[in-house]
Amino acid sequence: MIYDVIIIGSGVTGCSIARTLSKYDLNICVLEKEAEIASGTTKANSGVIHAGYAAAREYTKRYLCIKGNKMYTQAAKELNFPFERIGSFVVAQEDDQIKELEEERKKGIEDGIPDLELILDKKRIKEMEPLLTDKVVGVLHAPSAGLASPYELTFALAENAAMNGVKFFRNHEVVKIKHQDYKFTVRTHKGEFQTKNLINAAGLYAARISRMLGLDYFSIMPRKGEYVLFDRNAIQLNKILFPMATKISKGILVCPTLHGNTFAGPNAQNINDPEDISTTTAGLKEILDGGRLLVPSLPLRSSIRNFAGLRAVPDSYDFIIDNTDVYGFINVAGILSPGLTATFAIAEKVVEFLELLGVQLNIKDNYNPIRPKPERFKDFTKEELDKKIQEDPRWGRIICRCETIPEKEIINAIKAPVGANTIDGVKFRCRPGMGRCQGGFCRPRVIEILSRELNKPFEEITKRGEDTNILMGRTKDIALNEIPGGSNEE
Ligand SMILES: Cc1cc2nc3c(=O)[nH]c(=O)nc-3n(C[C@H](O)[C@H](O)[C@H](O)COP(=O)(O)OP(=O)(O)OC[C@H]3O[C@@H](n4cnc5c(N)ncnc54)[C@H](O)[C@@H]3O)c2cc1C
Repeated sequence: MIYDVIIIGSGVTGCSIARTLSKYDLNICVLEKEAEIASGTTKANSGVIHAGYAAAREYTKRYLCIKGNKMYTQAAKELNFPFERIGSFVVAQEDDQIKELEEERKKGIEDGIPDLELILDKKRIKEMEPLLTDKVVGVLHAPSAGLASPYELTFALAENAAMNGVKFFRNHEVVKIKHQDYKFTVRTHKGEFQTKNLINAAGLYAARISRMLGLDYFSIMPRKGEYVLFDRNAIQLNKILFPMATKISKGILVCPTLHGNTFAGPNAQNINDPEDISTTTAGLKEILDGGRLLVPSLPLRSSIRNFAGLRAVPDSYDFIIDNTDVYGFINVAGILSPGLTATFAIAEKVVEFLELLGVQLNIKDNYNPIRPKPERFKDFTKEELDKKIQEDPRWGRIICRCETIPEKEIINAIKAPVGANTIDGVKFRCRPGMGRCQGGFCRPRVIEILSRELNKPFEEITKRGEDTNILMGRTKDIALNEIPGGSNEE
């Protein structure tokens, strides 16, 4: 079989392209090297849907961000992922910073960002955000800024794409590409695929994929950002709080999450290893110090987790969305921040490129843009829950006590289109292990459910794919085998 389009990479970029293209009468597949989708940069970032004033006017990313932000309202309705426009503040603490904020406001309004407002009334600012530092002298308020859950959005995109016929191949690392007679042969560790058009959305590895076709015109540098996550309800913020931006990043923000937690971060360190997501004491100190400049009461003792994400920073500092010199090969690379915000606009740009390549884009009769909202225990009323438990007692068997997640939600996450097949896959889809105990209580039970539903032995259930197995065997079996003559074999 020859596909019309193959997409390499199933982060938010690849899945957004896949879902947008799934409305057309095309044969499409996505190749992903990891065991789960959303395993790269998409897994760990701030989740802010930026208003779009931050990037300078010479960058494409500014305009795709402004456009993409507006597209979220409709997308959230169709795909049912968590999204809320809570608004953001850029916080000035020096009088001479106000001029800079006013300049951003003016340009933002000219470029179509709605309702940007410079607020200098300290009383009003503190009413809107009581926990903000008393040192504030003014804020740039962007009501259109919001929060989305990046991985829940990506799961929704992938599910909807799969519902509309897109095939997903996980554990398929692309290792070689050949282009001959207007056809690409794409080799992974597990097989060979052929396609007329190939889209590179491989994140931190996009330059490597591009070089497989002899295109060596950009490089990608990993830039690490560390975070500190605080327990649910430790503090409650109303707004996304940014300091004044630095030359290389938007600075360390303090931000609520849609699940009731708060985080501080990220910092910005250029590194060489695209897999290094370790956190450091110095980095965490930098984040807490930075966070406290905005929210002095940041509760260190309520920190439940540290983590890091890697930005894929191209040498141009701008998105690379190109119809390349290799006919049919489109690079969608260097999708650094605000790539999550811009994602729907990026996918539309790819459609334009495919049109230029002469790909027939006929909308399918049976295209369905709706991805049903996953059923959640916490969303049911008492009466609804009683009914659910009567119908299926697994709704009443709570597996994760911190987040109140019943067995049935975990089973639904495994059985969904492109469903979870690892512990992290379950955790990111429906949250067991995200709470205060970080999986100490529920992990063995999640392993048990995965093992049963996927029909695999316990030892083959992994945290996040190859070489991340948790269990080595049954304690009793290992113990007996270790004792000379103690084998339990008959
Ligand atoms: C610290 C941080 C904070 C950020 N904050 C924000 C924010 O608040 N708002 C915002 O809009 N944006 C933000 N971003 C940017 C946003 O996260 C990215 O733009 C977005 O996640 C990029 O997604 P992607 O799909 O391009 O890359 P990825 O998510 O990395 O996806 C690429 C995929 O390709 C796969 N892959 C790689 N090589 C191969 C191969 N050879 N074969 C098969 N598959 C392969 C990878 O496994 C991966 O799954 C932030 C980023 C970081 C790191």
